[in-house]
Amino acid sequence: MGEHVVYYPAWEVSAVTIREELEERERGYLSPFAVCSADSRGREKPMEPCPLRTAFQRDRDRILHCKSFRRLKFKTQVFIAPEGDHYRTRLTHTLEVSQVARTLARSLKLNEDLAEAIALGHDLGHTPFGHSGERSLNRLTNGGFRHNEQSLRVVEVLEGGEGLNLTWEVRDGILKHSGKDKPLTLEGECVARADRIAYINHDIDDAMRAGVLREFELPQDLLHILGETHGQRINTMISDIVRESQGKPHLKMSEPVQQASDEMRAFLFEKVYLDAWRKDEEERCDHVIVSLFEYYMEHPHKMPLEYVQIAFRDGTERAVTDYLACMTDRYALRTYQDLFVPTSFPVL
Ligand code: MG
Repeated sequence: MGEHVVYYPAWEVSAVTIREELEERERGYLSPFAVCSADSRGREKPMEPCPLRTAFQRDRDRILHCKSFRRLKFKTQVFIAPEGDHYRTRLTHTLEVSQVARTLARSLKLNEDLAEAIALGHDLGHTPFGHSGERSLNRLTNGGFRHNEQSLRVVEVLEGGEGLNLTWEVRDGILKHSGKDKPLTLEGECVARADRIAYINHDIDDAMRAGVLREFELPQDLLHILGETHGQRINTMISDIVRESQGKPHLKMSEPVQQASDEMRAFLFEKVYLDAWRKDEEERCDHVIVSLFEYYMEHPHKMPLEYVQIAFRDGTERAVTDYLACMTDRYALRTYQDLFVPTSFPVL
C-alpha cells in the first residue's frame, strides 16, 4: 500500500492537447491528397475545438449520436420492412459503407475519420420504403426530391431543430455521394465508391436470401472477374481501387473491374430493383406516401410541432416533405393505419 497518488490525464497537464497531437500525426502520415483535420474549412457556427478529438472525429460522433441515425434501423434498403432478421436495413448498409470507405481511406493514406463521418451521414435523409419512397416524393413535390440533398438538410437544419453544425468537408461528401457532382475531397470519393461496392454486393446477398435470385443466375463472366463469393467480390473491388489510385489525385478502378461492376449493377437493376415482383409492393408503398402527403398538405397542423414550425418558416410542402422523409417504414405504416384504417372493436 503506497502513499496516496493523484494521476492526472496527460492532456490536462501537457501544454499540447491530444487533439493537437493527432493533428500533428496526420501531417506526418497522410498523403498529400488527404484532408488534414487542422486544414478543414470549418463550421458555419464557430465552436471551441475539442481537446481530445479532431474536427472530423467530432463530426463522426455527432452523427452517430443523432436521432436520424437511429431511425436508419427501421428504414428499407431494398426489401421493404423485412420480417427476416438477416436482411440489410439502411443502418446496416450505412455501417458496411463505412467499413469499405475506411479500408479505402486507410489504404490510400487518406483521412479515415473524415471518410467515416461522411459514410455514417450519407443516407440520413433517406425516405421510408427505400428508393420507392424517394421516387414518390420526387413526383409529389414541386422542387423534386433527392435523398442526398435531404441528408444534407438533416445535418444542416432538421436534426435537433438547428442541425449538427458539421465541417464543410463532411457536408460536401454527404451531398455529393450519389450524384453526378464529384465530391471535392478524396475521402468523399471513397464514400461514393464504398456506397456502390456495398450495395452491389449486399443486394445480391439479400436477393438470394429472398429467393428472388439464384446463385446460378449470376452472370458467370462477371463472377470470373469479380470472384465467386460475396467476400471475394468486395475484396476484388476494394483492392482494385487501392492498386489503381495510389498516389493519384482521384480514385479509379481498372477498366475490366469497373466494367464488370457496372454490368453487375445493371444486372441487379434488371433482376432485382425493377423486376415485376416488386411492382405490386411498390404501388402499395406509393399509395401510403401519396395518402400521407395529401393528408398533411391539407392538415399541416396535425404534424408534430417542429414540422408545423417549419411550415410557417419554409412553407407547407417543405415541412410535409421533411416529415415524410424522416419517417421509418413502420412509422409511416402505423400513421397510415391511424389515419385511414377504421379501428375494429374487440369481440366480447
Ligand atoms: Mg447509401
